[in-house]
Amino acid sequence: MSKRIRVFDTTLRDGEQTPGVSLIPDEKLRIAKALDDLGVDIIEAGSAITSQGEQESIKRIANEGLKAEIASFARILQGDIDLAIKCDVDSIFLVAPTSDLHIKYKLGTTREKLLENTLNSVQYCKDHGLIVDLCTEDGSRSDINFLKKVLKSAMEYKIDRFTLADTVGIMMPEKTNKFFSELKKVSKIPIGVHCHDDFGLATSNTLTAVNSGADVVDVTINGLGERAGNASLEEVVIGLELGYGYKTNIKKHRITEISDLVEKICGIPVPPNKAIVGENAFTHEAGIHVDGILKKPETYEAIKPELVGARRRFVLGKHVGLKAVKNMLDDLKISVNDEQLKEIFTRIKYMGDKGKRITNADLEIIANSVLGIETEKAIELEELVAVAGNKFTPTASVKIKINGREITESSVGTGPVDAAINAIKHATKDIPFELTEYHVDSISGGTDAVVKVLLKLKSRGKIITSQSAGSDIVLASVDALVNGLNLIIGRLR
Ligand code: MN
Repeated sequence: MSKRIRVFDTTLRDGEQTPGVSLIPDEKLRIAKALDDLGVDIIEAGSAITSQGEQESIKRIANEGLKAEIASFARILQGDIDLAIKCDVDSIFLVAPTSDLHIKYKLGTTREKLLENTLNSVQYCKDHGLIVDLCTEDGSRSDINFLKKVLKSAMEYKIDRFTLADTVGIMMPEKTNKFFSELKKVSKIPIGVHCHDDFGLATSNTLTAVNSGADVVDVTINGLGERAGNASLEEVVIGLELGYGYKTNIKKHRITEISDLVEKICGIPVPPNKAIVGENAFTHEAGIHVDGILKKPETYEAIKPELVGARRRFVLGKHVGLKAVKNMLDDLKISVNDEQLKEIFTRIKYMGDKGKRITNADLEIIANSVLGIETEKAIELEELVAVAGNKFTPTASVKIKINGREITESSVGTGPVDAAINAIKHATKDIPFELTEYHVDSISGGTDAVVKVLLKLKSRGKIITSQSAGSDIVLASVDALVNGLNLIIGRLR
């Protein structure tokens, strides 16, 4: 039977240490619930010593009745541990720096004293009935013999797990193999691995550690984490299960959903080319690939998108093939005959050759024109006023018609474009969508230049792109948003 690997998620602790991320208790609780639904075994909810808000977050998560074990980070200091205990956690992720670099320069102490403090802290945790996961900070730059000594001594104090951290992400797979094999020889308890991605090897090292005996993987959603981030849950789980045949408790079909949630709440966009959860991970443009995909998806896909709850997507450009266009039209529920399809295809190729990116809003407009359908827009912009300057807050008001009903809304923003977009969002609050990307390009030079605005909207798992151009950047932005919303509404009908 294949070995079951336990997943320790630290999105809410190491992930929150991502530069620019700071979460409030409600947000942390929402992510914790989603992690629990995903099937994570252990959730590191935060570091209780950080702040009062952090304590509130951890306490709420610990008392939510989740299936997962809830942990708090703590240094080998009684104050840290006491605060974690007050938050009602099940376990402590107890972090002891073990490299001479950290012992000498950070703590100004000796190996002997460090070991003594560590064992005292373990004893203190055990006296309070806690599960203890002892983590060796900067373990990858520690003396392996000292690590083994720490592990053996701590086992006598009844630690429950022992984790080696590659804190600065410098391990190579060969060293990972060596260290974990050595630790496995002396360990009678589960071993965890905590990797960072400074050299882009976090996933690789995590998988290597498991092959060398590790039982628990420390990961974060979208690979968030300090500096270059931690090993990402999605990559590690897929690698473990599909690459090596291990088992985990993760409901893989919910991976895309939680990736989106964490992206939205943390405000850190997932790069389009990110493995498994990036927007391009299952997107095909080139004609020859699309032809292969439509005949047999395995020809150009590593895994089926449904496996992780994602969708296959085709984009149009000058490389597009006839079959991809047909497929996208089917997706938009537009039926055409062969002649009409050829005409649509010719027009797209023509636009692609002119360097234009064809959005699916454009495709619908082209198709409707070829089919001779008068496009009746559900949303129409009637009025737009935006003001900005150095003496007042940028403000915009809009009057729009949604299916003939007039709505007037206003809003402020960081600038006139932001204010106008916010006003449209208020006016259309019943339409489920999220604006995920906004690009502006200046087509001609000068301050009277024509600008092109390209937007990406997400609505119920679908990605909609739309664009508009004009010499007024505020108006072009609003037009692009209205175009995209019309497409969404068309789909809702
Ligand atoms: Mn870390």
